[in-house]
Amino acid sequence: MIGSVLIANRGEIAVRIVRGARECGIRTIAVHSEADRLAPHVLEADEAYEIGPAPSSESYLRSDRLIELAKRVGAEAIHPGYGFLAERADFARAVEEAGLVFVGPRADTIAAMGDKTEARRRMAAAGVPIVPGLTEAVADPAEAERAAEEIGFPVLLKASAGGGGKGMRVVSGRGELRRAFEAASREAMAAFGDGSVYLERYLARPRHVEIQVLGDAHGNVVHLAERECSIQRRHQKLVEEAPSPVLTPDERARMGETAVRAAEAVDYRGAGTVEFLYEKGEFWFLEMNTRLQVEHPVTELVTGIDLVEWQFRVASGEKLPFAQQDILLRGHAIECRITSEDHLGGFLPSTGVVTQLEIPSGPGVRWDGGIVQGTEVALHYDPLLAKLIVHAPTRAAAIARMRRALGELVIAGVETCAPFHLRVMDEPDFASGDFCIRYLEEHPALLEPEEAGAETAAAAIAAALLEDEHRRHRAPRIGAEGSVPMSAWRRGGSPAPGSP
Ligand code: ADP
Repeated sequence: MIGSVLIANRGEIAVRIVRGARECGIRTIAVHSEADRLAPHVLEADEAYEIGPAPSSESYLRSDRLIELAKRVGAEAIHPGYGFLAERADFARAVEEAGLVFVGPRADTIAAMGDKTEARRRMAAAGVPIVPGLTEAVADPAEAERAAEEIGFPVLLKASAGGGGKGMRVVSGRGELRRAFEAASREAMAAFGDGSVYLERYLARPRHVEIQVLGDAHGNVVHLAERECSIQRRHQKLVEEAPSPVLTPDERARMGETAVRAAEAVDYRGAGTVEFLYEKGEFWFLEMNTRLQVEHPVTELVTGIDLVEWQFRVASGEKLPFAQQDILLRGHAIECRITSEDHLGGFLPSTGVVTQLEIPSGPGVRWDGGIVQGTEVALHYDPLLAKLIVHAPTRAAAIARMRRALGELVIAGVETCAPFHLRVMDEPDFASGDFCIRYLEEHPALLEPEEAGAETAAAAIAAALLEDEHRRHRAPRIGAEGSVPMSAWRRGGSPAPGSP
């Protein structure tokens, strides 16, 4: 087993990797920017080193400094987490050339899957169904128009180098194409330094269903079933669950086999995810993420397999000890991403110091967090503060458990989207599993202030004040005056069922 690892990341995922490494007996080396001196991942690691100023371009993205530091402090491996340098083939290559182990797939695999058009070509060649559309970038709006006529409107313009929903435009008719092409191309250029775009058919009401795969360096690949990630906003996931509420065992087997074939086609090593769009039993390859995903915990809970541990074991050269038939699913898991965004303001980012933090606990509750009381949430980094994950025997029980856990969560000093999640848990189409990737468009009320009757609102405010009073007596309030605990806010906005 690797003896030491430098974790080239921050926030909740750096904490998660420190925990996984520690359980494997691996020495943990954190890095941080000037802004993150007191961040949880720094405090939890065995060692920590400052690598630059707050902007990630001057710190977490400085691959040269990271590799130089790893060599200097005697790290045997580098774990990139997700985001930042995780899917940069040149970084993976430089790590290996420096004589270190990159905890992830081979650089060639990352390069092949990082370009969406190349990935589509590779997958089509391997017999994996892809979303109908092009497998090469289009040169100009005129070419895009011709291709769109052939594919049929609506089409989706996508950045070849895309990620995080950037450089994507839905085009419903010919007249919109030129402007959309220019906008997508410009956005892609700014985000990825590569403005090339291509077109796919825009599917009307698909679900986003992805398969977790795990491969070793000895040619073995298994899948760990699916995650349902259709609850999204602007093509970014908000709630994820495993298993999907709609997949039949036969569909799971077929999608799983297809994902394994996809992974084998690029000689996959480590943990990865093959993303599909799914509609009425049919599915099409969307992309492959060659890294650990934000939503990996729901898979860990239903399979009992620790993905970070297996990333380290595979990187150390171990063989996977399980065959496909050994992987069984137990119960249902749901994850809510807790971001510093106010859903009522259209998910506007919120900043501030976390003045109070009460973390849910109890049966079946997991908190993967990157904040503590006193953490300053600024605009430098991703707004993901933490993930609240629950596991229960059934989906209905998991929803009830998530509702309970969200009720226990208190984050004061910065707005979060936790109240939004509580609304989703109470929403009938979510409860019945009847939704697609357009869930939020189809349920706009979830983003509006609740229209509580005057009496209900007054009663809720009274209850909130009382609760606040109790809290004050129970524990001294820390930090900013006048900050309102999230639970109070929530009660004001969304009275619990059965309240007067
Ligand atoms: P990114 O790499 O930027 O995250 P993806 O290709 O993974 O982009 O797509 C992100 C999301 O965009 C999907 O989960 C889905 O909601 C939506 N999407 C992508 N392609 C299509 C398509 N062809 N039709 C409809 N929705 C799509």
